[in-house]
Amino acid sequence: MWLVWNSPLFHAAVHLLPTTEQESQTLTLPMHLLNSLIAKTLPLIPKSIVGRVSKRYIAGTTLEAATDAVRRLNQNSMMATLDILGEDILERNPAEQMVRDWRTVIDAMTSHRLDTNFSVKLSQLGLRIDHEFCFQNVRSIVDHARSVGNFVRIDMEDSSTTDATLEIYHRLRKEGFANVGVVIQSYMRRSENDVRDLLKLGANVRLCKGIYVEPAEIAFKEYQEIRDSFVSLLDLMFANGAYVGIATHDEYLVDRSYELIKKYERQKHQYEYQMLLGVREALRDRIVADGHRLRVYVPFGEQWYAYSVRRLKENPAIAGYVLKAMLRLNRT
Ligand SMILES: Cc1cc2nc3c(=O)[nH]c(=O)nc-3n(C[C@H](O)[C@H](O)[C@H](O)COP(=O)(O)OP(=O)(O)OC[C@H]3O[C@@H](n4cnc5c(N)ncnc54)[C@H](O)[C@@H]3O)c2cc1C
Repeated sequence: MWLVWNSPLFHAAVHLLPTTEQESQTLTLPMHLLNSLIAKTLPLIPKSIVGRVSKRYIAGTTLEAATDAVRRLNQNSMMATLDILGEDILERNPAEQMVRDWRTVIDAMTSHRLDTNFSVKLSQLGLRIDHEFCFQNVRSIVDHARSVGNFVRIDMEDSSTTDATLEIYHRLRKEGFANVGVVIQSYMRRSENDVRDLLKLGANVRLCKGIYVEPAEIAFKEYQEIRDSFVSLLDLMFANGAYVGIATHDEYLVDRSYELIKKYERQKHQYEYQMLLGVREALRDRIVADGHRLRVYVPFGEQWYAYSVRRLKENPAIAGYVLKAMLRLNRT
């Protein structure tokens, strides 16, 4: 496969490839096929090339790099949420180390007075090892954040974790932690019921489409169906006064959410937009210029590879990025 990536034919084609979202939206059929081929064969592409292309999606490997990224966002009127990369930890020691890392990150952001909160994944805190162990780990992080007046969002992972994640969230709220939020995925058929339960708690919810591959029995599969579900869940939450993090790069959903904000006369402190670092920055700037609050999800850490592959697979301009990075790598 490396021979194919390295062939003169690919090199000759590279200067014709789009590398911006605008350009990629006018792709011809062969270009789509090339993108899809590259997405499917990403695991075969050398890690150094993936690293080069994914720089835009990741703040770096160190806490210093994450601090700089958050500071830059704050200077540009955006909030942040930090994500220490790494999921599916299957042993107790690294899960406990993750708790210590989170405390260090929370303390650093507090001492630098940066406007960021924290997004944790339960599978990095031992969910796949033992439910109670995981609960105590996330409780300790949420407690630490509360002691400095900050907030922790529990990301939603694949459907094998949905019940446990919501259970842990409900238990934290029952124990009196108000500084914790959860995520609802609009592709899940169960989400309306979950939202109705969360509304009773006055939950702070991030609403997103959902990123994992789920079977049709439990998840909507059609693009417009997932959008429609997103809009109707947002309507339900706004109608009931919930605080929502509207997490999308889909302009259609941004426009629909503007309409709902108007319909329910939501004030600026009652919702926020959320976007991933490095994705659709023009849309991000438009939302901020329109006067809405916006938070950028900032991943960092040593475990950058799996996250990068996921982001690249979603990127419609992937072929251009990968091949151009490959060419630059060959020149150095
Ligand atoms: C802040 C935040 C937190 C999230 N948390 C979770 C979570 O906890 N659990 C979960 O399952 N999912 C999470 N997601 C991912 C989410 O579920 C979607 O998979 C993702 O946001 C893509 O959906 P979209 O609404 O942006 O629409 P899409 O239709 O996928 O994207 C809209 C447009 O954005 C552009 N775009 C999208 N992705 C990229 C990319 N990587 N590079 C370049 N352009 C791109 C494309 O132009 C695309 O046409 C989160 C997303 C955000 C923004």
